[in-house]
Amino acid sequence: MSTPITLVLATRNQGKVREFRRILDAISQGTINLVGLEEFPLTTEVEETGSTFKENALLKARSVCSETGLPAIADDSGLCVDALNGAPGIFSARYAGVHGDDQANNLKLLKEIENIPEEKRGAHFTCAAALVLPDGREHVCVEIFEGSILFAPIGNQGFGYDPLFRPQGLAISSAQMSAEEKDLISHRGKSLRSIAPYVISLLSSLG
Ligand code: IMP
Repeated sequence: MSTPITLVLATRNQGKVREFRRILDAISQGTINLVGLEEFPLTTEVEETGSTFKENALLKARSVCSETGLPAIADDSGLCVDALNGAPGIFSARYAGVHGDDQANNLKLLKEIENIPEEKRGAHFTCAAALVLPDGREHVCVEIFEGSILFAPIGNQGFGYDPLFRPQGLAISSAQMSAEEKDLISHRGKSLRSIAPYVISLLSSLG
């Protein structure tokens, strides 16, 4: 068998590396060696200056590809609430001001929509997954996860807005689902499964 092709995932989060690897391994049969940024500690932190999830995912993948000289993949995701015209959107991680303060973000969201009735609390998560190759080829897949915002947090799995998000058609929050259950229907699981065949076909054309 030929040597696996290295693909760099633009994240320092080991949980994300494991999730991407699980999905890619299932269909790549060992032809891709996925590594996270821990293998490239000197790569610069990319500023997410795009105005869409797609732009931000591309910015991250392009930067890692140009700094490492290797094919790179990146994702960008967030929560879009109908009653807030799509906010927090690309600002989801820093909605309440401090990047990654999930508790403050959730409190702010609950406050912003406290007077919005159940039937108008629709929302969706979006995830863009971007692949960039050193020869300039690029591919992006965007997927969503539909649901609504609860009136109080429930559940302790997942992260971010999961305790407030009720997936469409279910009577639980996404923080009450196992990682495997959530992967099957989530924006991230779907966008990774959508881009995986492109990753395999574009990377095999390099090898
Ligand atoms: P990023 O894609 O790592 O930049 O994540 C953006 C932010 O969106 C996270 O910090 C969370 O606040 C939110 N987010 C994205 N995906 C999810 C999810 O699956 N559950 C809960 N929150 C999420």
